[in-house]
Formats: sequence, structure tokens, C-alpha cells
Amino acid sequence: MSYDRERTVAFHAVQAAAELCQSVRADLGDEVLQKEDRTPVTVADFGSQALICRALQDAFPDDPVIGEEDSSALRSDANADVRDQLLAEVHAHHPGADAETVFDWIDHGDAAAYSDRFWTLDPIDGTKGFVRGDQYAIALALVVDGTLEVGALCCPHLPNRLDADPPESRGQAFLAVRGEGVVQKPLVGDAAPTPLHTSDTTDPAQSRFTESFVSSHSSHDLAAQVGERLGITADPVRIDSQAKYAMVARGESEIYLRLPRPGTDYTERIWDHAAGALVVEAAGGTVTDMHGAPLDFTHGPLLESNTGVVATNGPVHDAVLDALAAASAETQAT
Ligand code: AMP
Ligand code: MG
Repeated sequence: MSYDRERTVAFHAVQAAAELCQSVRADLGDEVLQKEDRTPVTVADFGSQALICRALQDAFPDDPVIGEEDSSALRSDANADVRDQLLAEVHAHHPGADAETVFDWIDHGDAAAYSDRFWTLDPIDGTKGFVRGDQYAIALALVVDGTLEVGALCCPHLPNRLDADPPESRGQAFLAVRGEGVVQKPLVGDAAPTPLHTSDTTDPAQSRFTESFVSSHSSHDLAAQVGERLGITADPVRIDSQAKYAMVARGESEIYLRLPRPGTDYTERIWDHAAGALVVEAAGGTVTDMHGAPLDFTHGPLLESNTGVVATNGPVHDAVLDALAAASAETQAT
């Protein structure tokens, strides 16, 4: 079974969505931090889902898509402004598409039930990063018989190396097919794709952490306790979105921890992890939940049988799980 066509369609779909999102972002300038107006992020969110679902519907009409958005809010007259801006952005890709057609594309992504072959989509992951002008991602994955087979993770604002940060290299896609590895491919231009591999660090103390920028999405305290137990002295790199998985896949971090804050019981959404998890696994890394169980994509939109996520380069995974178990036990006891 080859997934060449799925990978190509997924790449072109996320590439078009990235163009739309960057177009919306470019109109915002730098002053958006102060603004309360959610319109731009809503326009980009719906626009991204519309373009990607249209491409999937066209190429694979029988595949359901479990996406984050549906068009119901857009149909209200209170949102006429969002609707008009959305149509203008979509017209740059599909001139003349009317509102109903665009709503239908968006709603192609409103499947909720598990099936033996489906796509899952986060049209903009890390909206807070998008608004801030930091990292965000467009994340698309194909799940067949409960197994992640194809992942297209697109990071429109991520440079080709985090430390160098050359602005002209911003915009990278990470394309993974199970069993065939993962490549990094610039969104613009025709530079050859680069195969990626996780770092070969085996010493947990030398590992570098990445975690959510937003502390309500993952316990920074518990992660710090894990770091202490492992002897890690470097500060964590905090960035938004599944760009964290890309960091692990290309060897810039060894550990991505996503841990529910003690006392809360958030259930992770599949679209927040599917593409990123395959990108890390295809690069040689390991992804489980915080108890070491594989992520289970057979429950529809939620990772119902998992708690938290641990993604590592591979060699340090068991040490991280052990430290996490010990740190969690200590937290619960106090
Ligand atoms: P990140 O950019 O990694 O912080 O994650 C962004 C994602 O976090 C969003 O797409 C949300 O689906 C998800 N999210 C929202 N609330 C929570 C929460 N309490 N815990 C974990 N993830 C959350
Ligand atoms: Mg998300």
C-alpha cells in the first residue's frame, strides 16, 4: 500500500492553507497584541479548513474528515463581517466560490465518529501564537485502522533551524509516511526536502525540553520537576502549536511534555497530536501518553483513553516516563 498520492495532496492542501493564513496575518501588522478582536484568527481558521477540506473532498471523496471547525457560527448575520473577509481570502484560491459552497467545504470536516479510514485536521493549531506573531501550525493526518499513516504538519512561521532563525527561511512543512520517514520541505521555492532524524542523545541530563507557551495547556511545574529529577539544567523552549513535535523530529529538542495540570482532567483532541506524533515517530522518536500507553486514535475526536502526551527522541523515553511517574506521585502525595 503506497500513500504517495495522499502525501502529495496533503502537502498541497496545507501549503494553500498556509498561504491563506499568512495573508490574513500579514494584514494584522504588529499591533495585534493589544486587540481583543478575534475576527482575523476566525477568518484564517475557517479559511484554512475550507481549502483543505475542499482538496480532500476532491481527491478522496469517501474519506471523512474530523476537523476542529464547522460552519454554524458563520451562518449567523452577526458574523457577516467574518463571512465577507473569509470569502475574499478563499477567492484568492477559488475565484467565484459562493458562501454556501465554502460552508459545505468547511462542513466536510465536521465528521465526529471513528471510521476505518479518516483524516483529522487542525486548521490553525496554536491560535494564541498566530495572534502574537509567534508559532502556529496547520496539522493534517490520515488514520487507517486506528494507525497514523500520513502526516502533513505545516509551520508557516518556523525557520529551517530554530537557533539561526533566518526570517527568509520561515515556512516549513513536515511530511511523514509511516515506514518511509519524514522530510522537512520549505513551503516556498523548490529546495530539495531534507530527511529528518531525532537527536541521538542518550543522556537524559543533556536533554532539551520543549513545552507549551501557554501554561494552562500543560503543567510547567510538573515538567520542571521531571527536569530536575533527570538532572536537566537547560531552560525549556516554550512555543505554541505542534511546532514542538517538529523540534523533536529535527533534533532541536529531545523531550516534548504535555501534562494536564494536577487537579484538572483535560482530554486531548486528536487533531492537536495526530500529525505531530507521526512526524516524531517517522523521525525515529517515541510518542506515548504520560503513563506510557500508545496514543489511541479510535475514539473519534478525543484521545479518550490517554492522559497527556510525552514525545521524545526515543533513547530517553523510558527515563522520562519513570521521572514523570515519580514526580506525579510526589505531587499527589503533597
Ligand atoms: P499549544 O499551542 O501546544 O499550547 O496547544 C494549543 C492547543 O491546546 C489548542 O489547539 C487547544 O485545542 C488545546 N487546548 C485548549 N485547552 C487546553 C488544555 N486545558 N489543556 C491542553 N490543551 C488545551
Ligand atoms: Mg489545536
